[in-house]
Amino acid sequence: MPGRKPLVVGNWKMNTTADEAAGLAQAVADTAGRYTEVDIVLCPPFVWLEKVGQTIQETSISLGAQNMHWEDTGAFTGEISAAMLRSAGCSYVILGHSERRQYFGETDQGVNRKIKKAIGAGLIPIVCLGETLEQRERNLTEEIVNLQFEMGFRGIDAWPSKSHGQNIVIAYEPVWAIGTGRNATPRQAQEVHYLIRGLVKQKTEHADLIRIIYGGSVKPSNARELFAEQDIDGFLVGGASLKAADFSEIVRAASGTS
Ligand code: PEP
Repeated sequence: MPGRKPLVVGNWKMNTTADEAAGLAQAVADTAGRYTEVDIVLCPPFVWLEKVGQTIQETSISLGAQNMHWEDTGAFTGEISAAMLRSAGCSYVILGHSERRQYFGETDQGVNRKIKKAIGAGLIPIVCLGETLEQRERNLTEEIVNLQFEMGFRGIDAWPSKSHGQNIVIAYEPVWAIGTGRNATPRQAQEVHYLIRGLVKQKTEHADLIRIIYGGSVKPSNARELFAEQDIDGFLVGGASLKAADFSEIVRAASGTS
């Protein structure tokens, strides 16, 4: 992976109390934090951003959010803006996660508006794409990923480059692999990562710079073989990010150390 620093993101979803969040962040800092050759991002629930941010502030670990709204301010009860995330210390934001699409009606158009706003605010969006089991079984994976990519990134021209830096991350997350214990095989994942990099190539000559991470039941036992694939630049980790030891093992796999 020429010039691409590995990236491992922990998506804590709707888990942890205040004390658990601080404890987990500290444990991650103490274990995974030593692998500085990997970019590590923790995405706790909104209410713990500040607390987790304080815990990791002396480390190289970055802070991310799990979602945001596309408007700056206004009458959007319960929502959080990109500017708020920036002022809470976030550098990254997960957008278009399949759970947001499935349970909260998120659409590719909405994701598109959010991506534009996040980039404009200086946040790095981690944009999630992926097919359902039914779509895979009907051989629609390529079509679905194409569609999500084209609609999600419509009108976006600030692709990674020497001047923009690595300002966009794409996460391939087959929906059937999320939280199910059933991960994509390295070959299945690589095929889609290769496809996605091909789509990015149609937008920019710097497609080799973009980091495409895999998510879906990543564990210490499968991280190493997934990471060995050419176009897999790291991981978006749900369940296993709630255990510092497991998360640290996944980060270690992405660091290339044995
Ligand atoms: C996720 O939430 O993005 C995810 C991949 O979850 P899990 O690792 O639990 O499958």
